Amino acid sequence: MKNLKNGEKLKPQLLWKNFDMILGIPHPSNYSGMLADVIYGFGKNLGLETIKDGGGNIVIRKPASSPEMAKKEMVTLQAHIDMVPQKAEGKIHDFTKDAIMAYVDGAFVKADGTTLGADNAIGAAAIMAVIESKDIEHGQLEAFFTVDEENGMNGVNYLKNDLLKGKYLINTDSEEDGEIFIGCAGGVNVEATFEYKKTEIPQNHNSYRITVSGLKGGHSGINIHEGRGNSIKIIARLLSSTQNEMDFYISEFNGGTLRNVIPSKAEVVLLVKKEDDKKFRDIVSDFSVTIKKEYKFSAPHLLITMNEEAIPSYVLNKEAGYKIISALNCCSNEVFRMDDNLHIVQTSSNLGVINTTDSTIEIKCLARSLVDSARDYAGNIVGTAFKLAGAKVVYSGAYPGWIPNVSSILLQVTKDSYKELFNKEPKVTAMHAGLECGLITAKYPKMDMISFGPTIKDAHSVNEQVNIKSVKNFFELLCEVLKNIR
Ligand SMILES: [Zn+2]
Repeated sequence: MKNLKNGEKLKPQLLWKNFDMILGIPHPSNYSGMLADVIYGFGKNLGLETIKDGGGNIVIRKPASSPEMAKKEMVTLQAHIDMVPQKAEGKIHDFTKDAIMAYVDGAFVKADGTTLGADNAIGAAAIMAVIESKDIEHGQLEAFFTVDEENGMNGVNYLKNDLLKGKYLINTDSEEDGEIFIGCAGGVNVEATFEYKKTEIPQNHNSYRITVSGLKGGHSGINIHEGRGNSIKIIARLLSSTQNEMDFYISEFNGGTLRNVIPSKAEVVLLVKKEDDKKFRDIVSDFSVTIKKEYKFSAPHLLITMNEEAIPSYVLNKEAGYKIISALNCCSNEVFRMDDNLHIVQTSSNLGVINTTDSTIEIKCLARSLVDSARDYAGNIVGTAFKLAGAKVVYSGAYPGWIPNVSSILLQVTKDSYKELFNKEPKVTAMHAGLECGLITAKYPKMDMISFGPTIKDAHSVNEQVNIKSVKNFFELLCEVLKNIR
């Protein structure tokens, strides 16, 4: 193999051959057109009906493997073909030009200093293997390859409601062997902007920078119920209790990176009266002890530091600062509700980013839910806290969730197939994160869908790796479901 070192012996061969081919074609989000063209050519070369839609997504249809199988309903197999481009510090790699170099390391396939893109290229490679195979039993098939999923689901956003013909859809973008997903969360961005007036620096004050760091951070959906702590909320809590004891001014408040990441680090710069210095230091140190106790298990490396530093050139007027603190304290960063049937989070919100500019403080949150109406309600709860404090609030980028259907026929067939193959029950669950199924189901409400895939660890990071055995299990299950579909 060209790009997957020592990949020759991996099974199933067709799947790994296609994966190796995909590694060789640059396909980061926004640049997955080249790979889409290759897949288009792949369908055409096989003499199959092949379509490219307005969004750059590819559909390939393949007739049933036998007249008997042709009596079954059509199945759509779906994967996204873009990948998240991340590279290790110091690694020289151009994601728009260079091939991903991968290798076998024990039970896993890993990449050399970059993301591997097993998310979702293993799914795409498996679907291609089914399409080109001559010995897999299946009914009428439709392969649906989407572009730019990792970038706001742009490809599937373009999907028209008359393109797909399958009655069933199997999405291959989930990442845990032995788990069948039947639902996912939708989301809505909530952005609040506070405008403030600069105030001159008051006399006889000290300036302190307080930093909260060492929290675990993580995915704002998948990890939201784990009590990992939110650095922005922790600082807001400290400021709120300080407020009861003394006056102070905020100069800047920054933290977090993205609305969909739990913020692991945040900082605030404060001005406190010189005469309150001792009292303030005591408050911070007592608070530090209390918080560390609360997060002893979920954030053992939590660190709160305070350093005196040069007086800044301006501060926020006091009232603006206090309003922001109150709003941050009211803003929910938590699980609102668990799902009624599955033991997973139904609705949640994450306070992801705070950023101070010359004249504003901007805050970014993401509310998620398996149920769209609950998503909007959660977004509204978060937005209301900021509105009450006088901020301008904008809701954007809403995308639908995928509501679990526990009586799905496809689910039943998949569970039975899994039991037949592996002699045990699969776990049926949903994810508190986005899958393209949410957007597809909004356009094809009658389509019966599930999602399953191989075990992929640390997706979206340079440690991304796919478990080799789980790829085989995944492909066997896929073929078994195709054979057993009604
Ligand atoms: Zn993915």
